[in-house]
Amino acid sequence: MKKVLIVGAGFSGAVIANTLANTGNYLIDVVDERNHIGGNCHTERDPLTNVMVHKYGPHIFHTSNEKVWKYINLFGVFKPFINRVKSIYKGQVYSMPINLHTINQFYGKSFGPSEAKRWIESQGDSTINDPKTFEEQAKKFVGEKLYKAFFYGYTKKQWGTEPQNLPASILKRLPVRFNYDDNYYNDTYQGIPKDGYTAIIQKMLDHPNVKISLGYRFLGEKEDVGEYHHVFYTGPIDAYFSFRYGRLGYRTVYFKEYRADGDYQGNAVINFADEEIPYTRVHEHKHFTPWENHSETIYFEEYSKETESSDIPYYPKRLEIDMNILKLYESEVTNLNKVTFLGRLATYRYLDMHHIIEEALDSAEKFLELDSHK
Ligand SMILES: Cc1cc2nc3c(=O)[nH]c(=O)nc-3n(C[C@H](O)[C@H](O)[C@H](O)COP(=O)(O)OP(=O)(O)OC[C@H]3O[C@@H](n4cnc5c(N)ncnc54)[C@H](O)[C@@H]3O)c2cc1C
Repeated sequence: MKKVLIVGAGFSGAVIANTLANTGNYLIDVVDERNHIGGNCHTERDPLTNVMVHKYGPHIFHTSNEKVWKYINLFGVFKPFINRVKSIYKGQVYSMPINLHTINQFYGKSFGPSEAKRWIESQGDSTINDPKTFEEQAKKFVGEKLYKAFFYGYTKKQWGTEPQNLPASILKRLPVRFNYDDNYYNDTYQGIPKDGYTAIIQKMLDHPNVKISLGYRFLGEKEDVGEYHHVFYTGPIDAYFSFRYGRLGYRTVYFKEYRADGDYQGNAVINFADEEIPYTRVHEHKHFTPWENHSETIYFEEYSKETESSDIPYYPKRLEIDMNILKLYESEVTNLNKVTFLGRLATYRYLDMHHIIEEALDSAEKFLELDSHK
């Protein structure tokens, strides 16, 4: 049997491990520097409240890709969950994403859909023809007032810079709905795994040909991988090459944890749009499992900041300077014929779980096809 090494036990690594193991032709070592599997989707029960906590921030599974949905459902039970986010601005609670309810409440109106559409169009800044920045794009779409309320402070806190310094591409489409649909996602399928994401990933890795080593830090190009037929690497691309062209820019988030009796905020996620409030949102995790009963609660304030070398990289900034550095690393990758780079960190992209799973399934399929000719 051929030996394969997989670096990282998140969804990327687990999908590869599962697909290769099922062929019966590979012996697979999965290593992760953390002391748990699951990567950033890791969930575990809080010992004090027994609430299932998403340790690296709230994760809602959503996809319109039927193949991915069927695949993920092989590994656990998904309970229906609709993400309905609220946003607090100047002491008022609004419905997100901006919809007819938000517009009517914000402007003190009772518009129907077409009146609201005309109204929003009249608010948009018609002098902006070719928006270059996030600020211009938002003002063109929704006008100064809604921009200031729901985009300015939140975005500034999230990215640590004035929205006029961010590219327009962050806000591609009109972020407004002219009906009362407050489902945060537009996808066909949406849910939360009954027993958490780590149980799903555990099931993917549960195979006699898969060996997992936790607390193992892979050293990138410095590591001797001579015994392996192939390596799948899901860690940061710049770390693999010991940062020799510099570090890629990321924003990171950190959480302040609180517990209380009963229900703290009555919803899973509430955004805080005011610039003066230092956190971006509060998540209360028992609301991600409405089918469970908990008399106590645990909730987290989420703060955003620049990533330092000891922080977990979360959101790739992908500024011009980063993209130039990325090109240098990518050209090195093309010289490595027995290492596949995949996942959010190795490709330096923000990817949802369903994208990750789709790409990992494709990557495994391509690898197996090529390997069958060797
Ligand atoms: C705050 C936040 C909220 C999110 N919410 C959602 C959501 O609601 N819905 C959704 O679909 N997606 C969401 N995502 C995206 C989701 O987290 C990613 O799609 C997913 O985690 C990517 O999986 P991965 O396996 O590529 O990477 P990771 O989960 O990051 O796994 C990589 C693993 O590699 C390990 N590793 C790295 N380097 C090394 C090394 N040198 N040696 C050993 N191990 C190493 C790491 O420890 C990690 O466990 C969210 C992301 C963030 C940041």
